[in-house]
Amino acid sequence: MLDCLWKARRKEREGEPAGDPKLYLQEALLERKLPELDMRQLVDLPHGLDYNEWLASHTLALFDHVNLVYGTVSEFCTAATCPDMTGPGGRSYAWYDERGKKSRVAAPQYVDYVMTYTQKTVNDETVFPTKYANEFPAQFEGVVRRVVRLLFHVVAHMYAAHFRELALLRLHAHLHLTFAHLTALDRRYALLDHKETDVLRDLEVALRLREPPSPRAAPRRARTAPAPAPPPRPRRPRPRRPPPPPRDGRRPSGTYIVNSIVNISIC
Ligand SMILES: [Zn+2]
Repeated sequence: MLDCLWKARRKEREGEPAGDPKLYLQEALLERKLPELDMRQLVDLPHGLDYNEWLASHTLALFDHVNLVYGTVSEFCTAATCPDMTGPGGRSYAWYDERGKKSRVAAPQYVDYVMTYTQKTVNDETVFPTKYANEFPAQFEGVVRRVVRLLFHVVAHMYAAHFRELALLRLHAHLHLTFAHLTALDRRYALLDHKETDVLRDLEVALRLREPPSPRAAPRRARTAPAPAPPPRPRRPRPRRPPPPPRDGRRPSGTYIVNSIVNISIC
């Protein structure tokens, strides 16, 4: 891994490609250890569970994980090092306050706004109800879309500006896993606009979260009988871990759902 980082740095020194080197696409840094687990299983709505409840659970888990991973590199993210909130490929994010007023702020300020807004939102009993008989508001999914979009911006910034530090701290697999979770949730429930997620589409392919795009439409073939489907693979039963008991009568945060599989071995 270090070799990979040195090579990337040497290329920068030698003036090789002046653009975005995308260190996070280096093969040696792509590990995302989720043995035999299909991310779709993680986000599929369990039978009998309320949809909003499920969205809330995943949103809280994502918030926790993005906050944790960013916290490990926050000292490197300053107004001097990151005067703009950037993503890969030259993407730049402007902050829109709750009245829709747009402003350009440095990345640490932007991330602070994201975390403060999200914390305030998930603590708001009228939006994320935790007490018995309190209902989710009608616009709950819209709130989740905004929170997930903002968390995606923070993830994108870490890939664009802080992946080197994360790799040196050997925490890059945690970022990959958080990204994989966010991507699976988005693809299952269509929470984000494609224009938002385009900036990390190449990483989705590199991490095998999606098939690579075909360069052009497949050539037409003579009509033949379709190939027989491969035989189903035998499924091995997986041990199930019971959820922890709710604390103080509140809903479980959902973090356990992800934490139970965030058993990453790095390098
Ligand atoms: Zn930064």
